[in-house]
Amino acid sequence: MTFGNFVRGRTYNRRRDLHEPYGGQRQSGIIMPSKYPVIFAMTGESGLQHGYHDGWTADGQVFRYFGEGQKGDMTFTGGNKAIRDHVADGEDLLLFQKQDRTGLLRFLGEFVCENTTREPAPDRLGKMRSAIVFHLVPVEAIAEAEAAEPYANQAEGGLDLAALRRAAVAAANTGDEEPAEGARRRIYQRSQAVRRYVLARAAGVCECCGEAAPFLRLNGQPYLEPHHIRRVSDGGPDDPRYVAGICPTCHRRIHHGVDGQAVNKRLGEIIRQKEPVQKIGSHGARRLERELV
Ligand SMILES: [Zn+2]
Repeated sequence: MTFGNFVRGRTYNRRRDLHEPYGGQRQSGIIMPSKYPVIFAMTGESGLQHGYHDGWTADGQVFRYFGEGQKGDMTFTGGNKAIRDHVADGEDLLLFQKQDRTGLLRFLGEFVCENTTREPAPDRLGKMRSAIVFHLVPVEAIAEAEAAEPYANQAEGGLDLAALRRAAVAAANTGDEEPAEGARRRIYQRSQAVRRYVLARAAGVCECCGEAAPFLRLNGQPYLEPHHIRRVSDGGPDDPRYVAGICPTCHRRIHHGVDGQAVNKRLGEIIRQKEPVQKIGSHGARRLERELV
């Protein structure tokens, strides 16, 4: 919720609206505030910086965002690593476009990195090198795909909690570079697996207030809503350790209540105690996956 104040299309002052409230590296194009689970990524208005183009693909579905590193081959360190791993690490990814005339930052929205590729591009000195390109998808595109799918199969197949958890953790693992086709599908499946597990873990009882779900769905299952503890939107995929199954009242309270942040923080503690592994990140997920197999 902390980052929910940014409105898409509006412009913001980098120092006043980003650095003063959140901190983070002042000179960088990829800002990673250490105290908040968020990444602010900057792109130029013209899209042309250091010889490469950021921008939307022709179909308008994917924003191609070049990684950082002005000279030589780009590496998966610093901001590049943070963007690649942001889903597994539970970090929100917010994209801003610098306006040439005013220097203000236009908020383009919250994105999910669905794929990462390498391609040749000139560095600052005009020398060809291997550049990292992040394929960013608006988080709404994933939320829409989720909304189209009914919840009906959330406990199908007689899978037990451990099996659902294995599937969710395996799916939350962002893994290494892979072909672009299927990436969207993979993100979608990941969020479905996480939801299924979390709602099974809740077992019909709100993980926030401890009350029974207020009513049953048409299919007889208790009605609880998945809530992303560390995200603004509840829209995208996430790590099973940062998603809770909660009642609609708690959900509204967290997002709209005067004490929403405090309630959300307490919920985070509850989920931390329920989940066996606290390590954040894809490497932790991989290790956990091995332990569970
Ligand atoms: Zn509740």
